[in-house]
Parts: sequence; C-alpha cells; structure tokens
Amino acid sequence: MSDQLTFQDPTTRFPDISPPKQDQPEPGLDAELIPGTDRGEDSYTGTGRLRGRRALITGSDSGIGAAVAIAFAREGADVALSYLPAEEEDAQHVCEIIRGAGRRAVPLPGDLSDPEYCREVVRRAAEELGGLDALVNNAGRQIAVEDIADLTDEQWEDTFRTNIHAMFRVSQAALEHLEPGSTIVNSTSVQAYSPSAHLIDYAATKAAINNFTKGLATQLAPRGIRVNSVAPGPIWTPLQVSDGQPKDALPHFGKNTPLGRAGQPTELAPAYVFLTSSESSYVIGETLNVNGGQPSP
Ligand code: NAD
Ligand code: MG
Repeated sequence: MSDQLTFQDPTTRFPDISPPKQDQPEPGLDAELIPGTDRGEDSYTGTGRLRGRRALITGSDSGIGAAVAIAFAREGADVALSYLPAEEEDAQHVCEIIRGAGRRAVPLPGDLSDPEYCREVVRRAAEELGGLDALVNNAGRQIAVEDIADLTDEQWEDTFRTNIHAMFRVSQAALEHLEPGSTIVNSTSVQAYSPSAHLIDYAATKAAINNFTKGLATQLAPRGIRVNSVAPGPIWTPLQVSDGQPKDALPHFGKNTPLGRAGQPTELAPAYVFLTSSESSYVIGETLNVNGGQPSP
C-alpha cells in the first residue's frame, strides 16, 4: 500500500460535492445518483477481520449499507442482502462485488414494513448462509416535510414501521440464530440528538434506535451477543434525493460540518466492521458517531 493511501487529509480525501437539484421516486437508486458515490469498490482493502462470518445487512443495495456489504465481503464474510424489489439493479451490482471478493452473496428482496418479510428474510438468510452471526439493521426511510400540518398519519406510521418496528422484528427473529460472539449493529443518525425541523418523524425514530440499541445491548451482553450502533452525519446517498432533503438544500449538502464536506458511504464502513469484529469485544451499547465533526453527546 502506498504512503498516499495511509496518510490522507480528511478535508480533501473526497471531493467537496455540490449535487445538482434532482429527484428520484422513493427508494432512490445509486445507479442514477449525480454525482455517484464512493462505496469502496476501488478502495476498501480487507484484512480478514470478519473471516467466516455470516451477515444479514438490510438496505445493503445502496449507500451506507452497500459500502458495509462490500467491506464485510472483503473482510471475509458471506452476506445476505435485504432491499426493496425496486432496487434490484443496485443490489445486483453489490452482489457482483461480493462474489468478486470470493464470498457468497444472497439477494433477498422484500418490504421491511411487512412483519412477515421481517421474519422470512432472517429465516432465509440463515438457511442460505448456513447460520447467522452478524446482523446490520441499516434500512431506513427519510422524507422531508417542512410543516407538521402536512405530515400525514400514513407517513408518520410508515417511517416508524420501516425504521424502528422492522428493527425490533428482524432482531427478534435473528436471535433464534445468533450464538455467543454474534453482533448486531444498528444505523442511527446525528438526527437522534439534533433533529432537523423538516425531519421530525425520521429523527424521532433515530432517537428510538439509540435507546433500543442501549437497552437491547444490556439485555444481550450476558448472552455474549453485542449490540451497538453507528450514527452517520450527512452522507451522500440515494436517500437524500428521494425527498430525504428539501431540493434547495441539495447543493449545500454536508457543507455545514466542521470538515466542510458531505461524507461518502465508504467512510462509514470501517465503523461497522469494527463493531462487528471481535476487536470490539468490550464495546457494548455504544453509538459510534461518523459525522464530519458535528457535536453529539
Ligand atoms: P439508502 O437509500 O442508500 O439506503 C436505505 C435503504 O433502506 C434503501 O436502499 C432500501 O433498501 C432500504 N429500505 C427503505 N425502506 C425499506 C423497506 N420498506 N423495506 C426494505 N428496505 C427498505 O440511504 P443511506 O443513506 O445509505 O441509508 C442507510 C441508513 O443510514 C438509513 O438507516 C439512514 O437513516 C441512515 N443514515 C443516513 C444518513 C445520510 O446522510 N445518508 C445519515 C444518518 C443516518
Ligand atoms: Mg437503495
């Protein structure tokens, strides 16, 4: 590895992007995002930290979940991927990269707002991978609404169903398979502490995820199962263009962080690898903030 790769200025490691205004129907596709994102395809190098692990990663077709899936495979894990059927193109791209790393990729499309799929995706992942010892609850939806008067009952409930109810259901089902040494990592957000005015439903689910992470971690620690979470700041992913942000905000996305730029999905992957690998054996109920320096408790 060249010295240039091991010593990098974080302000310039990735370009300071100014995404043009754009719109995609929910869920957005990485394949159509302008500019494209870095999910570590050409940069993430594994060192065998997850050799032989069997992981289910939700929302692993795109964005942060895709970067985590690529990193897990390059670290030696087999990966089952959960995503919506409309995201098949993105998912197949990630499956190819996983297979290119010599690991198994098991695509399992479905809708996590359906309780039946939450249980079925776990059952199929364990069946296809010959067991399960790592779960990453990463799927989430984020739809910006400026005024609470316009926030419909349907949206409120959809956001909770996808972001937190599914996390409970998938985790509960996974625990039938997780042996001591297994891990759960949940995707929360800087929004859990600093809610944006236009994301009140989403931010509330992320605060719930932080709390769920700590409570479940305490419950499962005696069983040798560790639960932690990662709290990303502004990361350039399809979530942002499928109404995750007001359109006018897109060109400025992430520029208000102390680092001065949005994060790329691959910058999240090492946090998930760390919390899943046995290196973090004494880390329990923690939320690892990866947010470009925004204040968080
Ligand atoms: P993304 O759109 O690439 O990933 C989200 C994924 O969630 C989608 O790919 C989709 O597969 C999945 N999903 C959504 N609704 C679903 C449903 N009903 N059933 C099944 N799957 C569903 O965006 P991302 O930014 O990589 O998001 C990943 C996680 O990171 C989310 O939990 C998000 O809240 C969190 N997060 C993102 C940011 C950011 O700035 N991008 C910041 C903080 C937290
Ligand atoms: Mg997607």
